[in-house]
Amino acid sequence: MRMMTASIKIALSASTLALATAMTPQSAAAQGYPNRTITLLVPAAAGGPTDTVARLIGESMGKTLGQSIIVENVGGAGGTIGMARVAKAAPDGYMISIYHIAQATHGALYDNLQYSPANDFDSIGRIADVPMTLVSKTGVTAKNVKELIDWIKAEAGKVTYGHAGIGSASHLCALVLMKELNLQMVGVAYRGTGPAMNDLLGGQFDFMCDQTTNTTNQIKEGRIKGYAVTTKSKVSSLPDLPTMDSTVLPGFEVTAWHAMWAPKGLPKDVTDKLVAALQVALKDPKVIERFAGLGVEPVPQNLATPEALKAQMASEVKRWDAIIKAAGVKGN
Ligand code: ASP
Repeated sequence: MRMMTASIKIALSASTLALATAMTPQSAAAQGYPNRTITLLVPAAAGGPTDTVARLIGESMGKTLGQSIIVENVGGAGGTIGMARVAKAAPDGYMISIYHIAQATHGALYDNLQYSPANDFDSIGRIADVPMTLVSKTGVTAKNVKELIDWIKAEAGKVTYGHAGIGSASHLCALVLMKELNLQMVGVAYRGTGPAMNDLLGGQFDFMCDQTTNTTNQIKEGRIKGYAVTTKSKVSSLPDLPTMDSTVLPGFEVTAWHAMWAPKGLPKDVTDKLVAALQVALKDPKVIERFAGLGVEPVPQNLATPEALKAQMASEVKRWDAIIKAAGVKGN
């Protein structure tokens, strides 16, 4: 009996030793992940489109991972202030981020970025492509998108538009509209389109191209006017709005694709857990229902992966580099 106990002990300590030698410091850190609260950084103000996506996804992922995920809003400079914070955080899975299309434009727009959007993050996966809408304060008399564009032209540079900072989705959409339709407008920057929407409701500026996650309910309740959607197909939650493509700008398409990133160097097993939890969230009936009400469809499972997000970034960086160069815009 005593002999047996001794040999079991030896066997155990030998295997513990083998395990310890095989473990890198990173995989040791990933053991038991997550065992404390995870921060999900949104690089835009609370109450806006990215915040809406992040709170829904974060709540569902937290349930799967068995830990709470708290959303921290760090808005400003088109999202670059928040993304700099993520890039510099420890790659341990306790700081993750949801942002969007802007991540593919910051490199071309900002000369003094403190981080590299392409090299300082690990990809977790794509989340959803969020349609955008052309909206105005109720005081604008245009009755449809054609009249809206005619009015902006007639005002010759006096129409004001709100956006969430240089390189944000609302800024990029307006930029493309101005270029393609030869419009001139004056931009008013906010830390996110959540606070911008409050000012549009109050009539402090005239126009915005913003995501359906922020505009759907306001349009439906008549607090702002909606004119058109930026997707090639109509959006089922806003059936009265035509597409830009079928009205004033054939071929026009801009969506605010959202995705999840983490600081570069995430241990593989932590990445795997986050990817799995993200994929569960995208099938969560509550997420699907809330998304649908806001005109958003989650990406299929094969796109909610690090590989699909890397490919998306590569092609979007190329696409926006060309648009930004042609527009001659700079963030700083
Ligand atoms: N993502 C920004 C926000 O959530 C909006 C934008 O990019 O236009 O406020």
